[in-house]
Amino acid sequence: MHEELRTKLEKIFPKVRADLERLIREPSISLEGPSSPALRRAAELVQNMLTDAGASARMLELENAPAAVFAEVPGPEDTPTVLLYAHYDVQPPGDLHDWSSNPFDPTERQGRLYGRGASDDKAGIAMHLAALQAFDGEPPVKLKIFIEGEEEIGSPNFSRFLEEFHEELRSDVIVIADSQHWRQGQPALTTSLRGIVDCIVEVRTLNAAVHSGQFGGVVPDALSALSRLLATLHDESGRSSVIGLVEGDAEPLDITEDELREHAGVISGVELVGKGTLTSRMWRQAAISILAIDAPAISNSVNALTPVARAKVSLRIPPGQDPSSAIALLSKHLETHAPWGARVSVEPGAGIAAPVLLNTTGYAYDAFREAYFETWNQEPVEIGIGGSIPLVADLAAAFPEAPILLTGVGEPTSRIHGPDESQNLEELRRNCLAEIMALHLIGAH
Ligand SMILES: [Zn+2]
Repeated sequence: MHEELRTKLEKIFPKVRADLERLIREPSISLEGPSSPALRRAAELVQNMLTDAGASARMLELENAPAAVFAEVPGPEDTPTVLLYAHYDVQPPGDLHDWSSNPFDPTERQGRLYGRGASDDKAGIAMHLAALQAFDGEPPVKLKIFIEGEEEIGSPNFSRFLEEFHEELRSDVIVIADSQHWRQGQPALTTSLRGIVDCIVEVRTLNAAVHSGQFGGVVPDALSALSRLLATLHDESGRSSVIGLVEGDAEPLDITEDELREHAGVISGVELVGKGTLTSRMWRQAAISILAIDAPAISNSVNALTPVARAKVSLRIPPGQDPSSAIALLSKHLETHAPWGARVSVEPGAGIAAPVLLNTTGYAYDAFREAYFETWNQEPVEIGIGGSIPLVADLAAAFPEAPILLTGVGEPTSRIHGPDESQNLEELRRNCLAEIMALHLIGAH
């Protein structure tokens, strides 16, 4: 059977690739808002492609949200319903001068297809289209396909979609093709995600600005007080020093400090912070970052003591950490560590995402592990993501019985969200094969 599926994929792959190129040509940037014509054109293109592939697709519409495209294909009785997820929106390209070719004109160089969305996440759509075509409209399981258009801005309406179209989305297995593999040629399943909370902390020392010569040395300024307060958030090693936050461990895997420094572009001489394995620090421990400070700009500065200053503090939280207790611990730390009796107020932010630890047992995981092994000749590694995909937690809450598989098509050199984003075409082919095989195995279990 696997040979048959391989042969079939060889036949349809040129079309899969052509579909991906057509998708890249639409600059479907969700940051431009739900009324963006390119966003709408991309949704229509996806609808047409799904329909051509044998699934009669329709738009799921909500006010003030880009349409999501939905399709359903019946399968054999007594087989599970598998929901395939991807998104058709993309990040803005940034400075075009940083690109070696036009981001919306797909270009192949050395086996990679370059363009915005080539990997994230139009390759995910192409892979699901391949899965549809491989079975000539008669898949071995019942299929549902949901392709949304606002993932890159945090899927703000996803919970509304879940509420409004609960029956459409109801499924036994959920495949979210929006993560990445460990390395090119080394497959991975993503099994943990950190969550996030944030807050704005304000520090006040004076009713209004006063002369820094007249009062400096006696009266504290707010920016100095804020700086000292922010400095208490980490210990000497750079690890979070907020007491009570959950800490976990991850498989160390084979990433080295040099590799990580290179991926992140860390300037030479700058140390890495935190304690424990790199993967634990990235995926299973809390991370506190100062995102921004409101204080007088240098260009407007005068010789005065600043009366008030504010900072936005972000806290990434590992699986097992409840977001509301995390924000409570962070707030308490900030409220009790200000120097010199400075007045502190903390305003929790609205952008909350819960962390996720997926249950990786059961027939769906077995099927994907086997399909990955057959395709790459090696077991997939289990990886985490330091960031959040809020819709994963939403789906897990809505369908607690359904296993969630977080797959993806790209790998670290795909440079998603950056200039010269690309997708390795051989890896795309392998991913298509793996998904097709996995569906076959799920249907046969
Ligand atoms: Zn994505």
